[in-house]
Amino acid sequence: MTAPTEVDLLIVGAGPTGLFAAYYAGFRDLTTAVVDSLPEPGGQITAMYPEKQIYDVAGFPAVRGRDLVEALVEQANQWKPTYLLGRRALALSEVDGRFLVELDGGATVNAGAVLITAGIGEFTPRPLPAGDGWLGRGMVHFVPALDAHRDQDVIIVGGGDSAFDWALALHPVATSVTLVHRRAKFRAMPATVRQVEALGVRIITDAEVTALIGDDEGLREARIAVKGSEEEVVLPAQAVVAALGFTADLGPIDSWGLEIDHRSISVDSTMRTARDRVYAAGDVAAYPGKVKLIATGFGEAATAVNNIAVALNPDAHLFPGHSSAAE
Ligand SMILES: Cc1cc2nc3c(=O)[nH]c(=O)nc-3n(C[C@H](O)[C@H](O)[C@H](O)COP(=O)(O)OP(=O)(O)OC[C@H]3O[C@@H](n4cnc5c(N)ncnc54)[C@H](O)[C@@H]3O)c2cc1C
Repeated sequence: MTAPTEVDLLIVGAGPTGLFAAYYAGFRDLTTAVVDSLPEPGGQITAMYPEKQIYDVAGFPAVRGRDLVEALVEQANQWKPTYLLGRRALALSEVDGRFLVELDGGATVNAGAVLITAGIGEFTPRPLPAGDGWLGRGMVHFVPALDAHRDQDVIIVGGGDSAFDWALALHPVATSVTLVHRRAKFRAMPATVRQVEALGVRIITDAEVTALIGDDEGLREARIAVKGSEEEVVLPAQAVVAALGFTADLGPIDSWGLEIDHRSISVDSTMRTARDRVYAAGDVAAYPGKVKLIATGFGEAATAVNNIAVALNPDAHLFPGHSSAAE
């Protein structure tokens, strides 16, 4: 078993709230680890709408999701947080006044305090049955880097906003983009559907991907059954994006001895949970009048981290001083 990662603060969730908290913790001289079950930082933004413009982040009249996440990572990285991505936080225990958090894969983090920024919980992508065994070998559930699909034939499966957003984003870089949806109607916004249609992206409706074919070198083609047709459509495919949505669940955090209310964690005005030195911020934190937005998550992250700084060191000031005066 590897030695635990020792930090002042463990942040569970690398969404916008967790990333901003990592910046703020560094500003407060706290060493930090950030764990996330997704392989990339950015939480809901990265998983669901990296290409969309966001219009209500203070200081940005409009910012593309992907660009906001990049800027948050750059801001946090000044303080060199330890990222533990692709790992779930499983169990929380207390030993000698410190927390031990077990991650899957056997790793542990030893932290003085824990800040839970787990959003709506862990995302589990809805599976594409025909994609069994192809995850990471040609099939993906979301697209963190468009360039990975440059010059590929890409098949996108789904009829929601994400599926159509990926189609728009991948069209300029991929050799071909085909969208396959099992119904004739789409859940995506009509304006986005029209944009994708106007680009000439092939859309096959009432259809299901029945098999992915390839070898050790990767994926080669996809077979598609279309309702009412005897013959399968066979298309070249080096990549399949299964954009069938996600289910989200607080999962293991449910049993950390916190007060859970409608899949959120109850906090007081310092963002402290029912346990000492365990705080929560962002979408996962609940209190009367809560509004779940990126903007509120940022404010809650600052409140939580400044209170954590005092919880860890009672001689510390709650008010951090102004960052503009730091130089
Ligand atoms: C389509 C869409 C559009 C949106 N548009 C806007 C908008 O325009 N403006 C706006 O303000 N908000 C918008 N939102 C909401 C916004 O994305 C959320 O408020 C924001 O992402 C919350 O950030 P967060 O960091 O608190 O949580 P999240 O972004 O949910 O991140 C939480 C992270 O925690 C991780 N996690 C959870 N449990 C564990 C565990 N046990 N172990 C390890 N990791 C774990 C998850 O994998 C996830 O990455 C939108 C949401 C959606 C879905």
